[in-house]
Amino acid sequence: MWSRQRDCVDPRCHIRNTVLSTQGAKYFTSDISGLNMIENSMFEEEPDVVDLTFPALDPDEVTYEPRSSRLLVRGLGENDMDDDEEDCESSARLLGMSFMNRSSAHRSNSSPYTRQAPPRSCSRPSSRTIVVCVLFLVIVASMTMVLYFLPACTFTKAGCPKPNKTNPIEPVYPISTNGELFPWAQLRLPQSIKPLSYDLTLNPDLDKMTFTGRTVINMSILHSTNRIVFHGANLSITKATFMASDVTVLEYKPRQQLAVNFSEELKAGQYCVLTMEYSANFSNTYDGFYNSSYIDKDGNKRVLAATQFEPLSARKAFPCFDEPAFKATFLIKISRKKTYMTLSNMPKAKSTNLSNGLVQDEFEKTSVNMSTYLVAFIVANFTSITKNVSGTQVSVYSVPEKIGHTEYALTITSKLLEFYNNFFDINYPLKKLDLVAIPDFLAGAMENWGLITFRETTLLVGNESSLLEKQVVASVIAHELAHQWFGNLVTMRWWNDLWLNEGFATYMEYMSLQEGNLFLSVRFRALDKDALSSSHAVSTDVNTTEQVEEMFDSVSYEKGASILLMLNASFPGDQQFRKGIIEYLKQFSGLNTDTDDLWNSLTQTDKPTHHMNVSQMMTSWTSQKGFPLVTVNLMGNQVTLTQEHFLLTSDNTTHTSSLWNIPVTYVNDSFLSVFMCLFVFSDTFKLSKNVTWLKLNYKSTGFYIVDYGKDGWSALTEALSKNVSVLTHEDRASLIHNIFALSRLGRVTFRQVLNLQKYFSLETETSPVMEALLQLNNIYRQLEKRQESNLASRMKVLNSHPRNSIFTNQTWDKEENVSKQELRSALLEMACSLNDENCTHQATSLFKKYKDSNGTIRIPGDLQQTVFTVAGQSDETWDTLFNMYVHATYDSEKRKMLKGLASTQNPQRLVQILSSGLRGSLIQTQELPLIISTMCQSFAGCLFAWDFIQENWDRLIEKFPIGSFAIQTIIKSVTSQSSTQAQLNKVQAFFSGLKERGSQMRSVQEALETIKLNRDWMDRNLPTLRRWL
Ligand SMILES: [Zn+2]
Repeated sequence: MWSRQRDCVDPRCHIRNTVLSTQGAKYFTSDISGLNMIENSMFEEEPDVVDLTFPALDPDEVTYEPRSSRLLVRGLGENDMDDDEEDCESSARLLGMSFMNRSSAHRSNSSPYTRQAPPRSCSRPSSRTIVVCVLFLVIVASMTMVLYFLPACTFTKAGCPKPNKTNPIEPVYPISTNGELFPWAQLRLPQSIKPLSYDLTLNPDLDKMTFTGRTVINMSILHSTNRIVFHGANLSITKATFMASDVTVLEYKPRQQLAVNFSEELKAGQYCVLTMEYSANFSNTYDGFYNSSYIDKDGNKRVLAATQFEPLSARKAFPCFDEPAFKATFLIKISRKKTYMTLSNMPKAKSTNLSNGLVQDEFEKTSVNMSTYLVAFIVANFTSITKNVSGTQVSVYSVPEKIGHTEYALTITSKLLEFYNNFFDINYPLKKLDLVAIPDFLAGAMENWGLITFRETTLLVGNESSLLEKQVVASVIAHELAHQWFGNLVTMRWWNDLWLNEGFATYMEYMSLQEGNLFLSVRFRALDKDALSSSHAVSTDVNTTEQVEEMFDSVSYEKGASILLMLNASFPGDQQFRKGIIEYLKQFSGLNTDTDDLWNSLTQTDKPTHHMNVSQMMTSWTSQKGFPLVTVNLMGNQVTLTQEHFLLTSDNTTHTSSLWNIPVTYVNDSFLSVFMCLFVFSDTFKLSKNVTWLKLNYKSTGFYIVDYGKDGWSALTEALSKNVSVLTHEDRASLIHNIFALSRLGRVTFRQVLNLQKYFSLETETSPVMEALLQLNNIYRQLEKRQESNLASRMKVLNSHPRNSIFTNQTWDKEENVSKQELRSALLEMACSLNDENCTHQATSLFKKYKDSNGTIRIPGDLQQTVFTVAGQSDETWDTLFNMYVHATYDSEKRKMLKGLASTQNPQRLVQILSSGLRGSLIQTQELPLIISTMCQSFAGCLFAWDFIQENWDRLIEKFPIGSFAIQTIIKSVTSQSSTQAQLNKVQAFFSGLKERGSQMRSVQEALETIKLNRDWMDRNLPTLRRWL
C-alpha cells in the first residue's frame, strides 16, 4: 500500500513537513496522560466477559500472564541504578527473582545488542552494599507478595478493581452476540485449520448500497479441534452449512471474529466445507467493500463500488481467515446491471445472463495462493487502454472522461514490468495486470494482485502535467509493481514484519527510478522520527488491531528502505544484494516469511567480505528501535569512533544500552576513496597520513548520524567554504541534516549550526538547499506559533537572505529539468510564503492570465502550487479559486487548488472548507488530512484546525481508523510545530481524555514528545536566536 505523507502529491511537500522529536512517556510518568495509558492498557478487556472457562484447550491456546505485575515491576526496573543497586540486582537474579529481566523485556528494550560492561574486578562488597542489598531484597520480596496476592490490583485513579476469581492461566472466553460462549479469546486465529480455497459469489446493489454474498470455504484440518474460528465484520449471516448440515455461526464483534462449535471433534487430516450466505451494507468508510461516487462531465452523479482490504477489511466483504499467513485460492463471481462492468484479480472467464435481468461475471480461479488482504473487486463503468507486455495484458482504467490521462501510466508500467521481470528473474505470474484510478480512495494506492487500485492523482497525468507530477505517478507505480513480488508472491507472516512488504517496495521504488534526491530527504525524515523514544523496532510486536494500523508508518516504509540501501551499499558489488533477494524470492515463492528468513537468504549469498554475516549485522537494525550516533575523534592520522543510541529525550534520565553493527564508510581530504569497516562498540584505526578533515557515512547511505566534535565540524565548514565540491551533494545535505539533529539533541550549540551555514552562500544543489530550507522553515514556523512575531519576521528576511541569488535566479517559464523544477518550486513557494513582493506579484499575474484565458493558458505544473496558494491567500481571488476547484476535473490540479484554498487566513472560509470536507459534499472527505496539514502551516489556520479536530474527533475516527495513516497525519500536522508548555498541556489534556478512542496511539506519544523537545530546544536557543536575528 502507498499510504505515506504524500497528501502533498509533489515531492517538494517535504519542505513543509516538520521535524519531529523526543522522549516517550514511560509507563510511570506523573502526568495525566501517562496514568491514563496505564489504566487503559491494563483494563482494556472486553466489558462482557464471564467468569467461566471453556474446557479442552488445544495447542493453539497460549498461557496468559498476569499483566499487572509485569508493568509495575517494569517501573522499578527502568530507574537508573547505581552500583550498589546493580549489585543487588545480580543478587536478586541469583535468588531466582528473574522478574527484573522480564520487566525490561518490553518491546524495543529487549535488544540482544547491549553494551558489554568491562569485566569487573572481583572484590568483596562493602558493608554499605550489603545493607542496601538486604533492604532492597526485603522491599522486592514484599512487593512480590503484594503482587502475588493482588494479581489484578493496580494503582489507578479508579482504585483497585474487584478481584477476578478465574485462574489467570485459563483463558477467559467472551460472550457471543447470541449469548453463547464464544470459543476463542485471542486476536490471532487458531492454527488448527487451514483454508484451501474460497468460492465467492457477490450480488452488489448500487442503488440500495447493499450487497448479498455466498462464501464457500474449503479447508483442511491440521490439528483435531471442535471449533472453526475465522473473521467477519458487519456481515449478517443468513444461512450456514457445514458439510450439508445447518450450523450456527457465533460472532464476537470486538475482535471481528466468527466461530462454529462442533460437539464432535474434527479430526486432523480431514477436509471439509463451510458455506455461508449473508447480507451487508456497503462500507461508508474507505475500507472493505465500499461505495464511491463522482460527478461526470454532464453533472450527473455516478456511483461505483470498490474494495480496499489491507490490512484488516477483507472480513467486511466476506467471511474469511483474514490474516496474511492464511493463503488460499479464490474463485469470484459478481452480478451487475448491464450498464456496469466488473474487475477482479483474475481475467474474466465468462458472463452469464441471470433470470433477474442482471449479468453474472465469473473470473478465473486464482492461479496463485493469495492472502485475503490482496483480494479485490470493482463494479463501475470505467474505460481502459491496454497493451501486451511480455505475455501479460496490462490495462489502465479510469472514469470515461479521464481516459486521455492514462497513457503515461501504461507506458511507465510496461517499462517497469519488464524491468522487474528481469531484475527479480521471476516473471510476473498472472496473465493480466490492471491499474485502476478510483475517484474516491483514501490510500495512495493498493497492490491487490493483478488489480492495483490508485487515487486518481497517483495514476493519471495529462500531457501538460509537470515532470514532477509524472515522477510521483512513476514512483507509485514502481512501488505497487514491486509489491507484486515483495508482498504478493512472498508475504510477511504477520503484520509485525510489514516492513518486508513496505520497506522493500519503497526501496525498489527509488532504486528502479533512480530518484536519488527524493530518497535522500526521505531517509532524513525517517531518522527524525526514529530518534524519538516513541519510535519502534522495524520488526516489532503487534497485538491489537490499532497496532496493525500503526505499522503503516515511516519506520516500516522509509526506515525499512533505508536499511536495505545501507546493506546493499555495504556489499562490494551491486549484484550480490540482487542475487540474495532473487534467492529469497525463489525459496519462499508463494509462502510467508519473517525477517530472519530474509537475512538468512542474504547471508547465504554473501561472500566472506564482512567481519560478520548479514544476519548478525542486520538483526541489530531490525530488532531494536532507533539508530546510532557515531562520534568521531580525529587526532592526526588516528581515528577513534564510538557509538551510542541517538535518542532525543526531554528526560535526561533515559539511557539505553542499544548497540548496532555499523557499516562505516568515510572520505577525507587526502584520498577521496571510500573505506569500509564494520564496528560494534568502538573502533580505532590509522589513516596512511595526517588529514585535515574526515567525513563519515559517504553519500549518507548508512542509517546513522555523525558528530565530528567542535574541531571536526570547523574543519569541514572550512573545507566547504573554500570549495563546496570537495564533498558530494548528498554528503553536504547530510552534514546539514546531522548538525540540526545534533542541535536538537543538545550536542552542538546553535552557534555551531550557524557556522556551517557560512558555506551556504556557495550552495546551489537541490538537496542541500532544500534540507537547509526545511530546517530553517521549521524554526520559523515554531517561532510564529509561539507568537514571537518579531523574531519570526526577522527570520523570514534571513531565511531568504543568504540565498538571495538563488531566489532571484528562478524563472517563471517552462523548466525541463526535474531537479531544477523541484528546487524552483520549493524556493518560489517559500519566497511567496514569506511575502516576497516580486514573487507574489508574479504569481498573482500568472493566476489572472490563467483565469482570464478560461484555463487555456497553462501554469507550468511545478509552479501551480505557488500560484494557487497566493490566490488562496487573497480575499479577492479565493472565491474564483473555489469555483475553479469545484469544476476542475483534473485531480492533481484540483488538489493543488484545494491546498491553495486551505492556506487562507479568513476564519469563515476555513470553517467552510473544513465542514465541507467533513460532509464530503463539495470536498471529498479523503482530503481532510491534506486540508488540515495545509492549514497548520499558519498560526490562525492551525488554531482552527485544532478546534475542529477536538470537536469532531469521533466523526474523524469513524472515517479514518484509529492508528491509520490519515489519523497519524492529522495529529502530526496539528502538533508538530508547537513548542510551549501551554500548548503541551492542551494537547495532553485532549488526548488523555480520549481513553479507548485513541489515547494510546503511538502518534499521540510522538506528538507529546515532539512538543516537549521543541520546548526544550527553544528554551536553550532563544537567546542565541535573538542575538543572531
Ligand atoms: Zn506499499
